[in-house]
Amino acid sequence: MRVIVGSAPPGREQHLGGDLLCVVRALLKKIRRRVLVGDRVLVGAVDWADRRGMIEDVFERRTEVADPPVANVDRLILLFSLDQPQPEPATLTRFLVDAESTGIPFVLVFNKVELVDDQTIAYWRDRMKSWGYDPLFLSVDQKSGLSALEEMLEGQTTVIVGPSGVGKSSLINALRRNQNISEEDPIHKLVEQNSKWFGEQRVGTVSKKSGKGKHTTRHVSLLPIAGGGFLADTPGFNQPSLTKVTKKGLAETFPEIRKMLAENEPSKCLFNNCVHLGERGCVVKGDWERYPYYLQLLDEIKIRESFQ
Ligand code: GDP
Ligand code: ZN
Repeated sequence: MRVIVGSAPPGREQHLGGDLLCVVRALLKKIRRRVLVGDRVLVGAVDWADRRGMIEDVFERRTEVADPPVANVDRLILLFSLDQPQPEPATLTRFLVDAESTGIPFVLVFNKVELVDDQTIAYWRDRMKSWGYDPLFLSVDQKSGLSALEEMLEGQTTVIVGPSGVGKSSLINALRRNQNISEEDPIHKLVEQNSKWFGEQRVGTVSKKSGKGKHTTRHVSLLPIAGGGFLADTPGFNQPSLTKVTKKGLAETFPEIRKMLAENEPSKCLFNNCVHLGERGCVVKGDWERYPYYLQLLDEIKIRESFQ
């Protein structure tokens, strides 16, 4: 595993910004501590001449994304397109619920603005506002609206997620091409110099269990972007499974419900375990656009939980 050295010990400053090829300490493997891309690690047994070392420990992760597997992600970009394909409210809701459930800040972005008229853009802006979101609109193709997004990503580690065809790969390429890496920044320089190990790779492997059927192992790398941040070179899932969202947690992932609960402070729903299905004393009304999606997802989670 390649490890980027952010600082060097006193007297070794000439190695600042160096990279090391590291093995993972056997003990860590034994206790199944996986080292993820984006992890902050303690490196020992460093051989500066050979640029080798050993990962001794993995520091606690602030956040963790499963697909693609990246640790310490600061922000998600939820990417959809206004046309080809058009946004589907149910899919949009699934992605929003999943993003909300990670606890990682995210920005909702609509791509391909040049394919639609101003009315359509206004329509989606208003509709998203009523859901509790304030999206960005841009066109990767026309290179319009990208700078607002770039500013937002400065200094952060970002992962792009969204359904297929909306322009995730295109956006990754645009953000990396638009980069204006400071020459003085040793880490960026280093990553650039070593860009050969930063390309996307997809490796088909044969499943060990069945011995047949290919599944794809995804190798993710972090690309440097303008302003000192990193971007995962592999976009995330096509359909979030929502397996980590609980029945009780689901309500928390809807800004509309959060708002209704906040407006009724301090008197919340009568029952502490209210899931807002019209229970007695429930303060969550059913007169909002996404209530049917909330109910559908609640059913899905109930069924899943009943099998657990
Ligand atoms: P992904 O599946 O989300 O990674 O999407 P891709 O990046 O592969 O893009 C899917 C298709 O959308 C490609 O044909 C892109 O050229 C096209 N595309 C990406 N961005 C734009 C855009 O801003 N406008 C238009 N019209 N097409 C775009
Ligand atoms: Zn309630």
